[in-house]
Amino acid sequence: MEGIWGIVHADQTSPGTPEYGAARKWMAADVNAAVTGAFAAGATEVVVNDSHGSMRNIDPADLDSRATLITGTPKPLSMMQGIDPSFQACFLIGYHAKAGTKDAILDHTISGSVVRFVKVNGTELPELGLNALIAGYYGVPVVLLSGDTAVCRQAGEVLGQEVVTVAVKEAYGRTAAKLVPLSQAGQMIEAGAKEALSRLGRAKPFKMAAPYTFELGYHVSAQADMGAMLLPGIKRVDARTLSFTADDYIEGFRTLRALISLAPAR
Ligand SMILES: [Zn+2]
Repeated sequence: MEGIWGIVHADQTSPGTPEYGAARKWMAADVNAAVTGAFAAGATEVVVNDSHGSMRNIDPADLDSRATLITGTPKPLSMMQGIDPSFQACFLIGYHAKAGTKDAILDHTISGSVVRFVKVNGTELPELGLNALIAGYYGVPVVLLSGDTAVCRQAGEVLGQEVVTVAVKEAYGRTAAKLVPLSQAGQMIEAGAKEALSRLGRAKPFKMAAPYTFELGYHVSAQADMGAMLLPGIKRVDARTLSFTADDYIEGFRTLRALISLAPAR
């Protein structure tokens, strides 16, 4: 949601605030533009997985009526619920840059209050990379990403330059940005979706070689304590860092989520 057009502050992404109602409409608009582009490019089925916070941000009645919505949380594959080998492509709409990125709207990795960084096999990854590895696990390439200019840059760095990126805003810090005009944002995402599906033949699923060594850096040492004490097979790299190795990426991803869930908020 942090990478949706118009959004620059956590008040806009949090239910119960005066601004949230408008922001969830903007979210539906960005997603619907991608759905429109996908069907125009020949897609026969589109599944949308709401992936922010409560995962109940898109009002189901606001979604393009041709698309299927997955709503609510928790879900076994979290932000990637619903994907399987029958899909030909994955779009990541409204994404944000990893924790510690300069000039990036609401930069964080999975949990802003818990996670300082996540590395897989030595490479620090943003959520887009961690999730693209789930798509890759099922043989599905990520072909489109939208968000601010910073996350679009990271998508190219992580996934390669073949991924189509659509920047709907350019950040001046963590909570301010210059937006593209509303009349253009939807057109840009729709055009990006068409372009991405036209290149499908060249798209490769994002994969890393097994086994997968995860490294999770927390903000404070108290957040590493519970995971180190309770879960088997966890190595304490230092006061604020845990690591573990998994032969199967999905198994590793589940352990990562457990370690984050066990940590007290800062
Ligand atoms: Zn996030």
